Order: sequence, then C-alpha cells, then structure tokens
Amino acid sequence: MTIIIIKDFFVNLTILISVLFFYSRVMKDSQLHQDSPLHIKLLMGFAGGIIGILLMIFSIHGSFLIDLRHLPIILLAYYGRGIPAYLCAALIIFGDFFINRDFSFVVIIVLFLIAFVSIFIANRNISGKHKVFATLTTTNIILTTILYFFVLDDIKHYIFSMFLHVIFTYVAGYASFNVIEYIRASQELFNKYKLESTIDSLTGLNNVRKFDYICKKLMKMAATRNEALTLLYIDIDFFKKINDTYGHLEGDMVLKEVGSILKNSTRPTDIISRNGGEEFTVILVDCSTELSSEISERIRKSVEDHVFMLSNGETINITVSIGVAAFDKGVNDINLFINKADKALYQAKKLGRNQVVYD
Ligand code: GH3
Ligand code: MG
Ligand code: MG
Repeated sequence: MTIIIIKDFFVNLTILISVLFFYSRVMKDSQLHQDSPLHIKLLMGFAGGIIGILLMIFSIHGSFLIDLRHLPIILLAYYGRGIPAYLCAALIIFGDFFINRDFSFVVIIVLFLIAFVSIFIANRNISGKHKVFATLTTTNIILTTILYFFVLDDIKHYIFSMFLHVIFTYVAGYASFNVIEYIRASQELFNKYKLESTIDSLTGLNNVRKFDYICKKLMKMAATRNEALTLLYIDIDFFKKINDTYGHLEGDMVLKEVGSILKNSTRPTDIISRNGGEEFTVILVDCSTELSSEISERIRKSVEDHVFMLSNGETINITVSIGVAAFDKGVNDINLFINKADKALYQAKKLGRNQVVYD
C-alpha cells in the first residue's frame, strides 16, 4: 500500500514538474509577475487550473485525501497574487464537480482558504525563502485541521494520510519552486547574455559583432537587388585628450551623447554601431550618393555644433572625422568594404580632421 502511494506521488510530482517546465518555456517572454497584464494573469490562472485538474485526476490512490491540486494555487499566489490564484482555485472546484461528480463545501473552503492565505503571505515584506516555507507550512496546517473536523471517521487512516500529505506538500512544493526559480534565473541570464552579445552596453547601439552580421546581410541584399549601400566610418577627433583632461567617466558620457547625435541625424532604417573605442559606423541602406553625402555632412555638423555638458558644469565641443565608402558588388568582402571606409577616414584625419572624405 505505502509503495503504491509513493509510486503515485512520483507520478504526480513528475506531471507537475514537466508541466511547470513546459509552461515556463512557453511563457519565457511573459513570465507571470505581480504586475503582469491582466490577460497573462488570466491565462496563467487558467493554465494552473488545468494542472490542478490533471493532478486531481491522477490523485494518489489508497487514500481519500492525497493529491497535489493545491500546489498550482500556491505557486500562482506567490508569482501572480490574487487573480490567477483564485481563478485556478475556482477551475479546480469546477473540475472536481464535473469530473468526480463531487461537490463538497470542504474542498471549496480548503482551496479558497489556501489561495487567500498564500496571497496574504506573498504580499508580506519577507524573503522569498521565508514566504515559501510559511505558505507550505500554513497550507499543511489548514489541510490537516479542516480535514480533521470534516472527514474524520477513521483516526488511524486520518493520521497516516495527513502524515503523507504533509511530507508530499513540502517535497513537491519545494521541488516546484526550485524548478520555476531555476528556469527563470537561466532564462534571465540567457536574455542578458543574448542582449549583451549584440548591444554595446554604454551607448545602446549595435556592437561590432552585430555590425558584422548586419553588414554582411545587407551586402548580400544590395548585391542581389542591385541597390546602393554606403558605409560611414566615424572617429572622434583627439578623444584621448578628453579622457586625459576630464577623466574616463566624462569620456564615456561624451561617447554616449555622440551615439544619440548619430541616431538623431540618421533615418530609422540606417544601422548605427559602436565598433570599438571612439569609433562608430553608420550603414546607409539604399541611399543615393547625394543623400549619403548630405547625411555624412549633417552628422559632422551636428557633432561640431553640439555643446557637451560635463558633470562639473563645464562645456566642451568636439569634432569627428568621417570616411565614406560605397559598396561595390564586384568586391563582395566585408573586410575590403570596411578597409575602403577606413582609408577614407585616415585621409580625413590627415587633411586636418573634422571633415568627410569619400573613397
Ligand atoms: P584621433 O583624432 O587621431 O582619432 O585621436 P584620438 O585621441 O581620438 O585617438 P586615439 O586612438 O589616440 O585615442 C582613442 C582613445 O579612446 C584612447 C582610449 O583611452 C579612448 N577610449 C577607448 N574606448 C573608450 C571607452 O570605452 N571609454 C572612454 N572614456 N574612452 C575610451
Ligand atoms: Mg580611433
Ligand atoms: Mg579618435
């Protein structure tokens, strides 16, 4: 008998954990939180109700009391508070009625009380670990107390069932929280690294890796569609002096602001990147020679005219040199394309800086 119960418990635990894993993967971009939009709360409450019903269907044999249907309610209360937790409880009660043809006030009272207490604890200002322990413990107290008064007929049976129930709730409860927290933490790290692998954290522009990827793609497209593609290589003039005079942090601030100037002086379709240090690039997609030179000159002028305010209140002006290269579909190599723009930039520096040179 005990072996069957333990086997059933593992089946329940496996169902619970697999479904939690599946939900967390499906909902990876809109995880349930206290201030999630209403449709997410409703969706998760509904999903929780389905898990609860599933757990009820697979309820542990040999005892009239044991299943893990209350766990989705606890989890939803912890992560999403009232709406999903109460919706989940209501659905499980409906499920119980339609599937088991069982309408019991005890079940209604127990499930709503668990939802209420779990939400109450989730709203306390204590650590997550304490909340989980407090919720699982109070749930166990509620279950063992209420069921003692309502379904007591065989005290030995009651004690045995409750003993198992308490242990199963703790084990399954901790396992569920652990799985969700692990998946959420991994997902967060994954998203963070994914973003960091393409975005320059200082300016929010594309980094050199993303630049490479986009540039190659655009070169292919330009070659097949016979469209123009222009690369602007932009380098701040005498930037080292700014760092040396005002410090690295002020230098960073200037870099950030140059990023904003580039965004404001180009079109939304143009690709702006920080390729390293004080070097930026702009790729102008399907842009005529006239428009390219107009945009390049606009960028140069905007930087020259911009007044950079330092944190000590002092103001400075800077300039940039720009090398411009037009894509030649006969030379379909990104390094050669960049080299062309770089050579033009070198020329602009040699000619006295603060100017645009075309390859
Ligand atoms: P030029 O006109 O010839 O381009 O002179 P420059 O001083 O701008 O060029 P140089 O290559 O000598 O110096 C570039 C400086 O950019 C040196 C380096 O300290 C600074 N730098 C590179 N990356 C960063 C950064 O992320 N933050 C800050 N504040 N400075 C950086
Ligand atoms: Mg440089
Ligand atoms: Mg420079």
